Amino acid sequence: MNNPRQFAEAVGNTPLIRLRLASELTGCEIYGKAEFMNPGGSVKDRAAKYLIQDALERRLIEPGGTVVEGTAGNTGIGLTLVGNSQGLKTIIVMPETQSEEKQSALRGMGADLRTVPAVPYKNPDNYVHQARRLAESLDNPHGVYYANQWDNTANRDGHYQSTAPEIWAQLDGKLDGFICAVGTGGTLAGVSAWLKEQDRPVVTAAADPDGAGIYHWIKHGEIKSSGSSITEGIGQNRVTGNLEGAPIDEAFNIPDTELLPVLWDLIGKEGLYLGASSGINVAGAIRLARQLGPGHTIVTILCDSASRYEKKLFNPSFLTEKGLPLPPWL
Ligand code: PMP
Repeated sequence: MNNPRQFAEAVGNTPLIRLRLASELTGCEIYGKAEFMNPGGSVKDRAAKYLIQDALERRLIEPGGTVVEGTAGNTGIGLTLVGNSQGLKTIIVMPETQSEEKQSALRGMGADLRTVPAVPYKNPDNYVHQARRLAESLDNPHGVYYANQWDNTANRDGHYQSTAPEIWAQLDGKLDGFICAVGTGGTLAGVSAWLKEQDRPVVTAAADPDGAGIYHWIKHGEIKSSGSSITEGIGQNRVTGNLEGAPIDEAFNIPDTELLPVLWDLIGKEGLYLGASSGINVAGAIRLARQLGPGHTIVTILCDSASRYEKKLFNPSFLTEKGLPLPPWL
């Protein structure tokens, strides 16, 4: 980054953690990239860093300027913290269904947070369209930047340049499979593209929740979905600019009833206090391991912390109402 500040330098270089239970269950070596250890607390710090770095380099914005984004929350948190370190203001448009914890974090770090009703992408009032229109309507002599994590490929480039080579180096190139869920698709597309350029074949795969269309898109070439999920930040129903052309080999549809027991084990037996998208990622890694067979090495992403979702994830009436399994200790 031009004139780097502390925050952006601290993004990335996260540990790779061996997931004991998933490895024992499958006879594979399964690892999680500990993205929850980024300074803003999620994998989206990487996208935020690269989106802002790209805008500064292209002189679309300078200190004093305004960053606008539509986000489920984590990208907003990353953009706000990187933005604060660069003298930029942030306006964050977020569906009101997203967790209170992410909303209060955004307010606490000084974002101008606008919550809006959750409506599908095809509705012009969807938060993504509202963010774009808001950016277009603003005037700031130092620049207004609509980050557009969905279609701005600086997002996947960040994962291509940082996440993938870090994983490769951490395993000395001994990797057979990579899997993660899709929000923007930046993580999956960027990591997959880099891995496919190495001289060892690596299977790349998406773990997709109910209500998302990526599973059907990868398997059958068109977006189709049904059902719903309590996961946040993932569950895509269009081919974003970041997903276009991504070399993804395989996909698994993973319902909440499958990912939650995996998540409760990660928390209760391995000390990994993670959010639900990490649960689907590890459940997906187990599925991929069973498909590849014992002896393979698989990596997935540990996206963020359960502390971002406590009021939902550890709320017995919320889970029971949806017919979902409770953590055994509650
Ligand atoms: N997990 C969480 C918790 C997220 O917030 C996001 C992004 N919204 C993702 C996973 C998906 O990452 P990506 O946007 O790179 O597909």
